[in-house]
Amino acid sequence: MKTTKPDLLELQEMYLDLNHARQPRKDRVLKAIEKLKNRIPEHLAQRVEDYHSKGRVAVVPLVHGSCGGCFLTLPGGVVNSLAAQDGLYICENCGCFVYPQKQQESSPAEVAFNI
Ligand SMILES: [Zn+2]
Repeated sequence: MKTTKPDLLELQEMYLDLNHARQPRKDRVLKAIEKLKNRIPEHLAQRVEDYHSKGRVAVVPLVHGSCGGCFLTLPGGVVNSLAAQDGLYICENCGCFVYPQKQQESSPAEVAFNI
């Protein structure tokens, strides 16, 4: 199955972008969001949107074996399979989509906390 992780991250970044966008760029971002949502299972896209409307991020990196959203330590097996499959894990505590962070990649969670 194709992973939707990059799409979800992109969607989240577009929503963050929307916070700062003005017309006519806002319309372009909204159109891009609609287009991207066609590629993402609806319930996943909906969660990103719901979290965004509450001022939270739904897609967070794995940080030292913990969820980047609530900092709950994830079971070792989960951490290992996330790293091995480059997949996505839904945190049982906060419901965030946790993805394994690649080296030297800036953290979306950090960016989000700065707004
Ligand atoms: Zn969590």
